[in-house]
Amino acid sequence: MTNITIALSKGRIFEDTAPFLKAAGIVAQDDPESSRKLIIDTNNPAVRLIMVRASDVPTYVQYGAADLGVAGKDVLLEHGGGGLYQPLDLQIARCRMMVAVPDDFDYESAVFQGARLRVATKYLKTARDHFADKGMHVDLIKLYGSMELAPLVGLADAIVDLVSSGNTLKANHLKAVEEIMPISARLIINQAALKLKRETIQPLLEAFRSAIAAT
Ligand code: ATP
Ligand code: MG
Repeated sequence: MTNITIALSKGRIFEDTAPFLKAAGIVAQDDPESSRKLIIDTNNPAVRLIMVRASDVPTYVQYGAADLGVAGKDVLLEHGGGGLYQPLDLQIARCRMMVAVPDDFDYESAVFQGARLRVATKYLKTARDHFADKGMHVDLIKLYGSMELAPLVGLADAIVDLVSSGNTLKANHLKAVEEIMPISARLIINQAALKLKRETIQPLLEAFRSAIAAT
Protein backbone atom coordinates (compact mmCIF):
# COMPACT_ATOMS: atom_id res chain seq x y z
CA MET A 1 0.00 0.00 0.00
CA THR A 2 1.25 3.50 -0.87
CA ASN A 3 1.67 6.06 1.92
CA ILE A 4 -0.99 8.75 2.10
CA THR A 5 -0.95 12.12 3.87
CA ILE A 6 -4.22 13.89 4.65
CA ALA A 7 -4.25 17.62 5.55
CA LEU A 8 -6.89 18.77 8.03
CA SER A 9 -7.42 21.77 10.28
CA LYS A 10 -8.18 21.66 14.00
CA GLY A 11 -11.69 22.22 15.25
CA ARG A 12 -14.78 21.63 13.18
CA ILE A 13 -13.02 20.33 10.04
CA PHE A 14 -11.15 17.66 12.02
CA GLU A 15 -14.21 16.76 14.07
CA ASP A 16 -16.60 16.60 11.14
CA THR A 17 -14.14 14.68 8.96
CA ALA A 18 -13.49 12.00 11.61
CA PRO A 19 -16.69 10.04 10.77
CA PHE A 20 -15.68 9.93 7.09
CA LEU A 21 -12.21 8.67 8.00
CA LYS A 22 -13.82 6.11 10.29
CA ALA A 23 -15.99 4.92 7.40
CA ALA A 24 -12.74 4.30 5.53
CA GLY A 25 -11.32 2.44 8.55
CA ILE A 26 -9.01 5.30 9.57
CA VAL A 27 -8.81 6.48 13.19
CA ALA A 28 -6.47 9.21 14.48
CA GLN A 29 -4.11 8.05 17.24
CA ASP A 30 -3.98 11.48 18.92
CA ASP A 31 -6.47 14.25 19.51
CA PRO A 32 -5.13 17.41 17.79
CA GLU A 33 -7.01 19.56 20.34
CA SER A 34 -4.92 18.24 23.22
CA SER A 35 -1.79 17.08 21.41
CA ARG A 36 0.78 19.55 20.15
CA LYS A 37 1.76 17.19 17.35
CA LEU A 38 1.31 18.49 13.83
CA ILE A 39 1.74 15.02 12.30
CA ILE A 40 -0.76 12.56 13.70
CA ASP A 41 -0.50 8.85 13.03
CA THR A 42 -3.55 6.74 12.42
CA ASN A 43 -4.37 3.09 13.10
CA ASN A 44 -3.35 2.52 9.47
CA PRO A 45 0.46 2.70 9.19
CA ALA A 46 0.14 3.90 5.57
CA VAL A 47 -2.02 6.90 6.47
CA ARG A 48 -1.00 9.99 8.44
CA LEU A 49 -2.76 13.26 9.16
CA ILE A 50 -1.13 16.68 9.17
CA MET A 51 -2.72 19.57 11.06
CA VAL A 52 -2.49 22.95 9.34
CA ARG A 53 -4.36 26.28 9.34
CA ALA A 54 -7.73 25.96 7.57
CA SER A 55 -6.64 28.40 4.87
CA ASP A 56 -3.36 26.51 4.31
CA VAL A 57 -4.97 23.14 3.54
CA PRO A 58 -5.29 23.76 -0.25
CA THR A 59 -1.65 24.90 -0.42
CA TYR A 60 -0.31 21.71 1.18
CA VAL A 61 -2.40 19.61 -1.20
CA GLN A 62 -1.61 21.74 -4.27
CA TYR A 63 2.14 21.20 -3.79
CA GLY A 64 1.74 17.52 -2.95
CA ALA A 65 2.94 17.85 0.66
CA ALA A 66 -0.42 16.24 1.39
CA ASP A 67 -2.25 13.94 -1.02
CA LEU A 68 -5.70 14.77 0.26
CA GLY A 69 -7.31 17.42 2.41
CA VAL A 70 -10.59 18.82 3.60
CA ALA A 71 -11.23 22.53 3.07
CA GLY A 72 -14.20 24.88 3.14
CA LYS A 73 -15.50 26.29 -0.13
CA ASP A 74 -14.70 29.75 1.30
CA VAL A 75 -11.03 28.79 1.55
CA LEU A 76 -11.00 27.07 -1.87
CA LEU A 77 -12.45 30.13 -3.60
CA GLU A 78 -9.75 32.36 -2.13
CA HIS A 79 -7.03 29.83 -2.98
CA GLY A 80 -8.24 29.41 -6.55
CA GLY A 81 -8.19 25.59 -6.63
CA GLY A 82 -5.15 25.19 -8.93
CA GLY A 83 -3.69 21.66 -8.97
CA LEU A 84 -6.62 20.28 -7.01
CA TYR A 85 -9.43 17.87 -7.71
CA GLN A 86 -12.55 18.62 -5.72
CA PRO A 87 -14.50 15.38 -6.20
CA LEU A 88 -16.75 15.46 -3.12
CA ASP A 89 -18.83 17.97 -1.23
CA LEU A 90 -18.77 16.42 2.25
CA GLN A 91 -21.72 18.60 3.36
CA ILE A 92 -19.92 19.39 6.62
CA ALA A 93 -18.97 22.74 8.23
CA ARG A 94 -22.05 24.24 6.59
CA CYS A 95 -22.68 27.93 6.82
CA ARG A 96 -23.35 30.89 4.51
CA MET A 97 -21.16 33.62 3.08
CA MET A 98 -23.06 36.81 3.86
CA VAL A 99 -22.89 40.58 3.66
CA ALA A 100 -23.68 42.11 7.06
CA VAL A 101 -24.12 45.70 8.24
CA PRO A 102 -25.01 47.45 11.53
CA ASP A 103 -28.65 47.02 12.63
CA ASP A 104 -29.46 50.65 11.88
CA PHE A 105 -27.77 50.79 8.46
CA ASP A 106 -30.11 50.96 5.43
CA TYR A 107 -28.16 48.74 3.03
CA GLU A 108 -30.85 48.67 0.32
CA SER A 109 -30.89 52.47 0.10
CA ALA A 110 -27.11 52.68 0.06
CA VAL A 111 -27.00 50.19 -2.83
CA PHE A 112 -29.82 51.97 -4.64
CA GLN A 113 -28.08 55.34 -4.29
CA GLY A 114 -24.81 53.88 -5.54
CA ALA A 115 -22.94 54.70 -2.34
CA ARG A 116 -19.33 53.56 -2.32
CA LEU A 117 -19.16 51.24 0.67
CA ARG A 118 -16.15 50.20 2.68
CA VAL A 119 -16.26 46.46 3.20
CA ALA A 120 -14.01 44.59 5.62
CA THR A 121 -13.37 40.91 5.00
CA LYS A 122 -11.02 37.97 5.13
CA TYR A 123 -12.47 36.87 1.77
CA LEU A 124 -11.18 39.45 -0.71
CA LYS A 125 -11.71 37.46 -3.93
CA THR A 126 -15.20 36.33 -3.01
CA ALA A 127 -16.18 39.85 -1.95
CA ARG A 128 -14.63 41.44 -5.05
CA ASP A 129 -16.48 39.04 -7.37
CA HIS A 130 -19.76 39.49 -5.53
CA PHE A 131 -19.82 43.28 -5.63
CA ALA A 132 -18.52 43.33 -9.23
CA ASP A 133 -21.44 41.06 -10.22
CA LYS A 134 -23.80 43.54 -8.58
CA GLY A 135 -22.10 46.41 -10.37
CA MET A 136 -21.23 48.00 -7.02
CA HIS A 137 -18.08 49.97 -6.33
CA VAL A 138 -16.64 49.06 -2.94
CA ASP A 139 -13.39 49.64 -1.12
CA LEU A 140 -12.25 46.33 0.34
CA ILE A 141 -10.28 46.17 3.57
CA LYS A 142 -8.45 42.93 4.27
CA LEU A 143 -8.80 41.53 7.78
CA TYR A 144 -7.69 38.19 9.21
CA GLY A 145 -10.47 37.70 11.76
CA SER A 146 -13.12 39.25 14.03
CA MET A 147 -14.68 41.05 11.07
CA GLU A 148 -17.73 41.87 13.21
CA LEU A 149 -15.72 44.51 15.00
CA ALA A 150 -14.94 46.59 11.92
CA PRO A 151 -18.34 48.35 11.48
CA LEU A 152 -18.61 48.96 15.24
CA VAL A 153 -15.48 51.10 15.34
CA GLY A 154 -15.85 52.85 12.00
CA LEU A 155 -13.33 50.79 10.03
CA ALA A 156 -15.98 49.67 7.52
CA ASP A 157 -19.66 50.10 6.57
CA ALA A 158 -20.18 46.41 5.95
CA ILE A 159 -18.48 43.04 6.28
CA VAL A 160 -18.40 39.86 4.23
CA ASP A 161 -18.19 36.89 6.57
CA LEU A 162 -19.40 33.37 7.27
CA VAL A 163 -22.62 33.12 9.23
CA SER A 164 -24.16 30.01 10.74
CA SER A 165 -26.55 30.75 13.61
CA GLY A 166 -26.30 34.52 13.32
CA ASN A 167 -25.66 34.80 17.06
CA THR A 168 -22.29 36.52 16.63
CA LEU A 169 -23.86 39.12 14.33
CA LYS A 170 -26.71 39.67 16.78
CA ALA A 171 -24.33 40.03 19.74
CA ASN A 172 -22.54 42.79 17.84
CA HIS A 173 -25.67 44.62 16.63
CA LEU A 174 -25.19 43.54 13.04
CA LYS A 175 -27.67 42.06 10.55
CA ALA A 176 -27.13 39.89 7.48
CA VAL A 177 -28.46 41.68 4.39
CA GLU A 178 -27.32 39.52 1.50
CA GLU A 179 -26.38 35.89 0.99
CA ILE A 180 -23.41 35.45 -1.33
CA MET A 181 -23.40 31.66 -1.35
CA PRO A 182 -23.89 28.56 0.80
CA ILE A 183 -20.60 27.11 2.09
CA SER A 184 -19.57 23.59 2.98
CA ALA A 185 -16.31 21.65 3.13
CA ARG A 186 -14.96 19.60 0.22
CA LEU A 187 -12.54 16.73 -0.11
CA ILE A 188 -9.59 17.90 -2.18
CA ILE A 189 -6.99 15.71 -3.88
CA ASN A 190 -3.63 16.53 -5.43
CA GLN A 191 -4.05 15.90 -9.16
CA ALA A 192 -0.75 14.06 -9.57
CA ALA A 193 -1.32 11.97 -6.43
CA LEU A 194 -4.69 10.81 -7.72
CA LYS A 195 -2.99 9.38 -10.80
CA LEU A 196 0.10 7.95 -9.04
CA LYS A 197 -1.69 6.62 -5.95
CA ARG A 198 -5.06 5.80 -7.47
CA GLU A 199 -5.13 2.27 -6.00
CA THR A 200 -4.91 3.67 -2.48
CA ILE A 201 -6.94 6.84 -2.95
CA GLN A 202 -9.84 5.37 -4.92
CA PRO A 203 -11.13 3.08 -2.11
CA LEU A 204 -10.87 6.00 0.30
CA LEU A 205 -12.88 8.14 -2.07
CA GLU A 206 -15.53 5.41 -2.37
CA ALA A 207 -15.77 5.07 1.43
CA PHE A 208 -16.24 8.83 1.74
CA ARG A 209 -18.82 8.78 -1.03
CA SER A 210 -20.88 6.04 0.66
CA ALA A 211 -20.62 7.85 3.99
CA ILE A 212 -22.12 10.99 2.41
CA ALA A 213 -24.92 8.93 0.86
CA ALA A 214 -25.61 7.37 4.28
CA THR A 215 -26.12 10.72 6.05
P1 ATP B 1 -8.10 30.03 11.27
O1 ATP B 1 -8.52 29.73 12.67
O2 ATP B 1 -6.87 29.29 10.84
O3 ATP B 1 -8.06 31.48 10.95
P2 ATP B 1 -10.75 29.49 10.45
O4 ATP B 1 -11.23 30.38 11.53
O5 ATP B 1 -11.29 29.71 9.08
O6 ATP B 1 -9.17 29.44 10.32
P3 ATP B 1 -12.35 27.35 11.39
O7 ATP B 1 -13.13 28.30 12.21
O8 ATP B 1 -11.97 26.02 11.93
O9 ATP B 1 -11.00 28.00 10.90
O10 ATP B 1 -13.14 27.17 10.04
C1 ATP B 1 -12.81 26.14 9.14
C2 ATP B 1 -13.85 26.11 8.06
O11 ATP B 1 -15.12 25.81 8.62
C3 ATP B 1 -14.03 27.44 7.33
O12 ATP B 1 -13.13 27.54 6.26
C4 ATP B 1 -15.46 27.34 6.86
O13 ATP B 1 -15.55 26.60 5.67
C5 ATP B 1 -16.13 26.56 7.99
N1 ATP B 1 -16.78 27.45 8.96
C6 ATP B 1 -16.31 28.62 9.47
N2 ATP B 1 -17.16 29.15 10.33
C7 ATP B 1 -18.23 28.32 10.38
C8 ATP B 1 -19.44 28.32 11.12
N3 ATP B 1 -19.75 29.29 11.95
N4 ATP B 1 -20.28 27.28 10.94
C9 ATP B 1 -19.98 26.27 10.12
N5 ATP B 1 -18.84 26.23 9.38
C10 ATP B 1 -17.97 27.22 9.52
MG1 MG C 1 -12.96 30.47 12.74
